[in-house]
Formats: sequence, structure tokens, C-alpha cells
Amino acid sequence: MGIALAIYYITPWIRWDRGPNLPDQAVLVDIANRRFFFFMVEIWPHEFYFIAGLLIMAGLGLFLFTSAYGRVWCGYACPQTVWTDLFIQTERWIEGDRNARVRLWNAKWDARKWRLRLTKWVVWLLIAVLTGGAWVFYFTDAPTLLRNLLTGNAHPVAYTTIAILTATTFVFGGFMREQICIYACPWPRIQAAMMDENTLTVAYRDWRGEPRGKIHKDEPTRSDGGLKGDCIDCMACVNVCPMGIDIRDGQQLECITCALCIDACDEVMDKIGKPRGLIDYMALQDETNERAGQPPKPLLRHVLRPRTLLYFTLWAGIGVALVVALFLRSPFDLNVTPVRNPLS
Ligand code: SF4
Ligand code: SF4
Repeated sequence: MGIALAIYYITPWIRWDRGPNLPDQAVLVDIANRRFFFFMVEIWPHEFYFIAGLLIMAGLGLFLFTSAYGRVWCGYACPQTVWTDLFIQTERWIEGDRNARVRLWNAKWDARKWRLRLTKWVVWLLIAVLTGGAWVFYFTDAPTLLRNLLTGNAHPVAYTTIAILTATTFVFGGFMREQICIYACPWPRIQAAMMDENTLTVAYRDWRGEPRGKIHKDEPTRSDGGLKGDCIDCMACVNVCPMGIDIRDGQQLECITCALCIDACDEVMDKIGKPRGLIDYMALQDETNERAGQPPKPLLRHVLRPRTLLYFTLWAGIGVALVVALFLRSPFDLNVTPVRNPLS
């Protein structure tokens, strides 16, 4: 979350000296002059194939990572996830941990509840404004635009864009959260076609955890010759899940592979003195092997397989072609010279 947010907010403020009469913003979509600047690279409309190539690479990259690691994009890098995480973190700072938030939710609207809620909404709104504000800085010189925005002299399009992005960030990150992933985003439906029995996803070792149930201190579980499984039914994995699902029910469309349930369960296993990994990154094939008492396949053999190698080859091929095309570009020179004694 920190890395993704830092890249988004800081990038428009990086300066890059290109010489006189050229903008010094490292990353700039200069719509007015129909140019795109990315550090030392400058792309003109007739070179749009570079952008097309980058978009194809982004698509193939998504295929590559999804077939190897499941929905890592959704769990770690998607703006909806990143901003929802930030909003949840803010909520936690202001209203307290989950139990405190549940108590606040059920409490009547007294002064304390109003104070906490209003503080949270104001902070969310501030984050939303900064998010919308950062976006417009990518399209014109950031320091100049900031000055114009603050003095009321910016173009109405800038204010409108900021207003729209502020509203969407506030509503999507603060209130709709997982509903966007489940009902509005097409990616969960498409990704199923890219995953197979070798894809690593988050899974629960039910053969180790079941039958679940509370255990007394020092009560043996099945791994120590007892009757119960290692899952003590503490619900920690369910409580941390941003999608509101129970991974113990098996793989579900809603799971964004964020691995928060792995961390939560590992903490519980540490406390009760059981091995970590009751919930873990696992491929479907490993589940079958482990149930049969066989060791799981080495991680590299899950990642390096024909499908991922094909995606990588295509991805890298396009990348190399773009770099070669970039260095083979010849600048266009135009000389205008006077002609002496022209024929009339
Ligand atoms: S966190 Fe682990 S022990 Fe607790 S309910 Fe989830 S799977 Fe069971
Ligand atoms: S089930 Fe686990 S990995 Fe999946 S979304 Fe919930 S917390 Fe994240």
C-alpha cells in the first residue's frame, strides 16, 4: 500500500531537465501539445504504437502473474484495494480495532459517536481530495497547476476532474469497498480462465484444521493424537478478510489473495504452539498431494511451466521490440535556407 501510494502521489513532482522550452516534469501527459513525456523518452501521436505496446505488455503481465500467483494484482496493487486498505487503516486509527468499531456501530448516536464518525469522514474526504488532485497533476506542470488551483485560476476541467475523483474515491473506498470487486469489476470473472491447478492461491488446509473447535490449554489436537483439528474456530481469519468471506469454506470468487488471513492465522498458530501454515499459499495440485500424504511440488515448478513461460516470452519479446524501436528512432531535422537569385 505504501509503495503504491508513494508512486502515485510523488511521481508528478519529480523534475527532469530537458533543456530550454521543454517541460521539466519527468512524467507528463501534455495533452495541449499532444506529447507524452516519461523521463528521457518523448512520444508523439504518430508513435502511439509505443503506448499500444505498453498496454499489451500490461495485459500480458497481468495474465502472467495471475496464472502464476492468482489474483496478486487485486490483492496488492489494484487502486480499489490500495485505497480501501488506506481507508480501513484510517478507520482503525480513529475508531479503534474491530471490536471497538462493532461496539461503535451498535451504539446510539451520542456526542462521542458523532465526533468519531465526523473525524473519520473528514479524513477520508481529505484523502479523496488529495487523490483526485494528484491525478490532474499528471496532465500539466504540477507546481503551476497547484498554484492555479489554490488561487482559483485553474481550468474548470481540472476542478471537475478533481470533484469526480474525490467523490468516487470517497464512496468506493469508504463505503462500497468489496462490493466494487464483487459486483462492478469484471476481472474476477476473467481471471478464472487464466488459473489452473498449478496456480498459487490462498487456501485452508482442512485436512489439518478439521474438525474445528475451541480447545482447552494443553489439549492435544489431531496432530498430537487428539480428536480435534488445529483450527480453534477463533474467527481471526474471517474478521481480517476485507472481502468478508470465510476461506475455510474453500476457494471463492470473492477472494483477492491479499493473504491477510494467512498472517492472522499464523499469529494464532504461534500463540497455541502449532505449526504455521494452516492457511497458506497453495496450488490445487498441492492440496491433492498433501491429502494423499505426498510432499507439495517445489514452488519454482509451479511458477515455471509452459503457460507462464509462453506469457513471459511474449511479454519480454514485446518489451525488447519496444526498446529497440525506441533507440532506432531518428530525430527529424528540417533546414530552411534562403536560395540566392531564385528563378522568377
Ligand atoms: S484464524 Fe486459523 S484457527 Fe482461527 S478460525 Fe481461522 S483458520 Fe481457524
Ligand atoms: S480469504 Fe484471505 S486472502 Fe482471500 S480476501 Fe479474505 S483475507 Fe484476503
